Amino acid sequence: MNKEKLESIKNELEDEKAMLEVKIDTLEQGEDFGDDIDSLEEEADESTEWQNQTAASQVLRERLADIDSALARMEKGTFGKCEECGEDIGMDMLQVNSTSKLCRSCKKLAREEENA
Ligand SMILES: [Zn+2]
Repeated sequence: MNKEKLESIKNELEDEKAMLEVKIDTLEQGEDFGDDIDSLEEEADESTEWQNQTAASQVLRERLADIDSALARMEKGTFGKCEECGEDIGMDMLQVNSTSKLCRSCKKLAREEENA
């Protein structure tokens, strides 16, 4: 992979990371939805909302962890190599998912195992 391409992926990931951190902060600090419990129905709504927010922030945190790990691999110079077999992941895969840790064939195997 050439340096320019790597730099541009890195910039994109860093932008996305900054955006995610803001979103997670917003979600986890929550809007103030605790003080106005005046009916049971509303209380239930608020609890569902809280669960949704927690689930959403969980997804964002997982994405953030993927980005961190991709950035760490860039530091080490192993970005773009499959963690499983050490082959190049390939630009086509990275274009779809720049934080992918596996090459196409290892990813396929992992998916088959997951579904087994
Ligand atoms: Zn592989």
